[in-house]
Amino acid sequence: MARYTGPVCKLCRREGFKLYLKGERCFSPRCSQVKRPVAPGQHGASTRKLTQYGMQLRSKQVVKRIYGVLERQFRRYFEAALKKNEETGTALMKILESRLDNIVFRMGFASSRRQARQLVNHGHVLVNGRRVNKPSFNLRVGDIVEIKEKSRSVLPIKEAAEAAKERTAYPWVEVDYETFRGTYLRYPVTEEVEIPVDLQSIIELYSK
Ligand code: SF4
Repeated sequence: MARYTGPVCKLCRREGFKLYLKGERCFSPRCSQVKRPVAPGQHGASTRKLTQYGMQLRSKQVVKRIYGVLERQFRRYFEAALKKNEETGTALMKILESRLDNIVFRMGFASSRRQARQLVNHGHVLVNGRRVNKPSFNLRVGDIVEIKEKSRSVLPIKEAAEAAKERTAYPWVEVDYETFRGTYLRYPVTEEVEIPVDLQSIIELYSK
């Protein structure tokens, strides 16, 4: 499946704030947005006022970049959200949050969504006891996600789980770090997820 393979720190610098795409490094002084907080490129330091359209476009880019989704798939998510019987922004957030790579990250088995995607691609993750290697796999509330027994000693997984144990867990997932197994308890509400843009502006952009 197509995905962005360029330097991810550039994406943060382009947006002007941290998107937390690199796990622990994002919280350290080595973060590029801390060291060099200007947009990449020759004219990165110059400021320009965005039009309303420009701001809507940037909001969409931010959400796509946070969840690691490319345009075509994001558009499909939007179309699916439109058909749901609830506010489109909320439905879109639920679809994005229910991706398997996102839940693996939320459960703390990976330090970033990018790493979570890799774990899923490499077959380290089971859903309801069956191996799933599709990062975009859509989970349902109640689904059980676990790390394959043989993979529990893989260093990045162990390190991520150790770090996650020390943090406050996301309340919509429940995780047992002894068995590397977690349950997707419920959909999060919009206020609980750290999306730094207004989802409504994306809806307005696609509705034009
Ligand atoms: Fe963004 Fe993380 Fe890179 Fe900092 S370290 S620029 S937050 S991806």
